[in-house]
Amino acid sequence: MLTGPPTGRSFVLEQLFKDARVAGVSELGLDYSVPDSRWTVQLGLMERILRIGTIGKVHVLHVRGSRGDPDGEAAHQHCREIMQKHCPPDTRIHLHCCTGSTTQVQRWMAALPECHFGYTMAFARMAFPSQQVLQDLPLQRLLLDTDAPHLKPLSATRCNSPRYLGEVAKAVAEIRGESMKRICNAATVNAHRLYRM
Ligand SMILES: [Zn+2]
Repeated sequence: MLTGPPTGRSFVLEQLFKDARVAGVSELGLDYSVPDSRWTVQLGLMERILRIGTIGKVHVLHVRGSRGDPDGEAAHQHCREIMQKHCPPDTRIHLHCCTGSTTQVQRWMAALPECHFGYTMAFARMAFPSQQVLQDLPLQRLLLDTDAPHLKPLSATRCNSPRYLGEVAKAVAEIRGESMKRICNAATVNAHRLYRM
């Protein structure tokens, strides 16, 4: 996630955002797991990046709540407000490393209907009540993440990498009570559609 001021980088970002080969803008968002004295900087930086011109790209959003707000209500709400302020309603979104509730998913889909939800091993390690959201999620909104090099599966001997995406698919399949093949097929189709591959 970008944390410094974009001074001097704006021109580079502007050129990248104009490049048709650039499919998405990644790790854009708000991370409130840091001290709240740094939230304002993040809010301003996110707005400055969106103002450069990211329309037409997939927005890969990183949203994380504070320790006292594990569902990230404040971070998600602020992030949605900024996205709605700067982006059209049909903006394609990949909300990555999701851990939020069904309510959180519904709010995103109501605000920005092209929002898709990426799940990692972080979700697989949560207890059942928190996993209900994954059972409720429409299959056509599902994406699979690894968030490598973080969140390695328990079976992994090395640091996390895309090679472990199958572990995520297996965990998601078990939680949803569906076959791994169905989950892999759906996530692949969804990713191709979202990223226009
Ligand atoms: Zn992230």
